[in-house]
Amino acid sequence: MSTSKATLILFLIILCNFSVQVVSVVEDCGADENDGCTDKKKALPLKIIAILTILISSMIGVCLPLVSQSVPALSPERSLFVIVKAFAAGIILATGFMHVLPDSFDMLSSACLKENPWHKFPFTGFVAMLSAIVTLIIDSMATSVYSKKHSSGAVKPESGGELEELPVVVQAGGGHSHGHGHHHGGKLAVDGAQLLRYRVIAMVLELGIIVHSIVIGLSLGASNNTCSIKGLIAALCFHQMFEGMGLGGCILQAEYKFIKKAAMAFFFSVTTPFGIALGLALSSTYKENSPRSLITVGLLNASSAGLLIYMALVDLLAADFMGPKLQGSIKLQIKSYIAVLLGAGGMSLMAKWA
Ligand SMILES: [Zn+2]
Repeated sequence: MSTSKATLILFLIILCNFSVQVVSVVEDCGADENDGCTDKKKALPLKIIAILTILISSMIGVCLPLVSQSVPALSPERSLFVIVKAFAAGIILATGFMHVLPDSFDMLSSACLKENPWHKFPFTGFVAMLSAIVTLIIDSMATSVYSKKHSSGAVKPESGGELEELPVVVQAGGGHSHGHGHHHGGKLAVDGAQLLRYRVIAMVLELGIIVHSIVIGLSLGASNNTCSIKGLIAALCFHQMFEGMGLGGCILQAEYKFIKKAAMAFFFSVTTPFGIALGLALSSTYKENSPRSLITVGLLNASSAGLLIYMALVDLLAADFMGPKLQGSIKLQIKSYIAVLLGAGGMSLMAKWA
């Protein structure tokens, strides 16, 4: 309960900070395009349709992996579960590399920004790198604090073996020797540390994805170009559905209770519609290529890119591929690689539009 509250608060802080930055933006550098497509009155109903369709398609996307849990073939012990997770990890990886990182490069190297600091130094790469390192630090510190707290606490009945094993299990995220997943009566044996890890991963991923989701909604909401808006709506529906499948796969392995799962799915689903509504509300003051919004969104994108890339590679892909299940079967490994390529490929394709 407290973790979900903390996430909620963090989410709100980010949103407030973000909207304040956006509101305070007035000045613009480039001239607006005027090709006969700009029609504010015609664009409004399209945007309302966009809010509804994107909301529904995000929900379908994020719920698809979650609902699949009730399909017997997808229960955690089955290999299909691993393949779904690999597919989701591919989507997250491509979101970082193909959507968020290039967006940030575009924004921070924009001609609208001053020559002096912004064109002299690759800020995007720098911030993304720092963010990946910070994610690593938090990841390892949180893990060691958690394992210390638990090994110094009251000794559980069966903890003789578990205590020795804990550091190994905990290290599994880094990916070499996963503790041998012990099965308790057929249920998937994820010990406390690993489960907590999965939960933190799911929440942090949601935060990492949120910036991009809001920004694409914002640019749709602020746009009055009726020629391009229909194509953009269709693209964003697929974009959010695909990204939702990625996030859903990560929520799945966190084994949340129904309420928490629903809350996380809901948060993800409303981000882009919220961005559209925000863009609509601010469409008179918000200019996409004013220096302040370029810098704010560019830096936010760079830091979420570092976070997404680190988490996709280390916490999702390496953790699974170096784990006992995939190391034990070459066949399953090959299937999972195909799933990763499919997920990453599909999400990369979406980068063509948004
Ligand atoms: Zn995108």
